[in-house]
Amino acid sequence: MLAKPYLPPSPIDEGKVVVTAIESVQPLEFFPDLLLVRIHTDAGIIGHGETYYCAEAVQAMLHDWMARRLLGEDALAIESHWRFLYERAANFGVRGTELRALSAIDVALWDILGQVCNQPIYRLLGGPVRDKILVYNSCGNPQYGVSNTGRKGWPGMGTVGDPGPLGDSWKLFHEPVALAEELVELGYSGLKVWPFDQAAIQYGPARIPRSAIEEGVQPLREIRDKVGMDLDILVDGHAHFQLPAALRIAEALREVEPLWLEDMIKMDNLDTVADFRRQSRMPISVSEMLLSRADYNTVLMNQAADYVMIDPTWVGGISETARIAHLAQTYNVPVSMHDCTGPLTLFAGLQVGAAVANCCYQETVRAQIQTVYKELIDTEVVISGGYVDVPKGNGLGVRLNPDWFKPERSTYRISTISD
Ligand SMILES: [Mg+2]
Repeated sequence: MLAKPYLPPSPIDEGKVVVTAIESVQPLEFFPDLLLVRIHTDAGIIGHGETYYCAEAVQAMLHDWMARRLLGEDALAIESHWRFLYERAANFGVRGTELRALSAIDVALWDILGQVCNQPIYRLLGGPVRDKILVYNSCGNPQYGVSNTGRKGWPGMGTVGDPGPLGDSWKLFHEPVALAEELVELGYSGLKVWPFDQAAIQYGPARIPRSAIEEGVQPLREIRDKVGMDLDILVDGHAHFQLPAALRIAEALREVEPLWLEDMIKMDNLDTVADFRRQSRMPISVSEMLLSRADYNTVLMNQAADYVMIDPTWVGGISETARIAHLAQTYNVPVSMHDCTGPLTLFAGLQVGAAVANCCYQETVRAQIQTVYKELIDTEVVISGGYVDVPKGNGLGVRLNPDWFKPERSTYRISTISD
């Protein structure tokens, strides 16, 4: 008898739950470039997953390449599938499309496992370590990521947006004190802003004029003057800048004492990230833009981060997010979970955040939670006193709205066991 191959897809038959179909669809009207994924099983349980950016490419990777590993095999062999797909994709680089497809699969498989066990995922990860998770509000606008034309924007190339309900990005520049006071009143302990994006779009990455720096710092100065130190200010550079411009911005921000600076420089050279932290002498968050545990390890070994930020639906799902969080724990570095990228990203982050002790913050965007997320999921996200309760339901604690998964939608795809 032949030995089973390395990483067999179904090493043990007992208790197996077989993958019968994989569906995906893009909700173009509400969140272009988001990919919603469902994995069906012979037990009737449906796992829900998601990822964001280059959705067509991820769909192709999912249905034309990865599905043949999963269909007909055990949905509960999560680690075997993760490692197999990662290692095969590592033969040609793994990052990007492959890792985002793997992320969506991994989140859906954990959702299935939770439903099979009738437990929330955080219990299967060793938690809970807390009953609610501290959140900050990222100051976007409801228009962020939204389109009724199906046209997609570019990452980090947003606009200030329009005034109106939940127009937090607009408010930062026009009514910063009112914005801060409203968030404090609601119980938030932190807000994230990206006040230098427009300067980057106008002047490019290599230089930023003093006037543009001042334009970005002034609203934060007003917030500090009015609400004091009780509100954490987090500043995101969206990886626009090269080292000299990033250092000028960092120096100017020193007076407002940000909790962290995030992605002030591009994340494609980790030596420069470490150099930026050393030269700026400011707290640095690194970074949802890293797509490899090895890169996180390099950052941590080089003392390049005060905080680690992880996006569960980019980095390799719940499995990899938990591993990176534990890695950061060994360096006594706290982690935070990224959002802005879809409702299941938020729930995946909450599941890991409920299970790892070193989670300090979950990113939330009220402009999305109260608008587009409501169209995508069946569960309301309630932020109260600056916290979100740990999800109560089994699995992810949330289901995608089934109305999206209609074969008549132009972006709908399905792969089945009989294909
Ligand atoms: Mg960011």
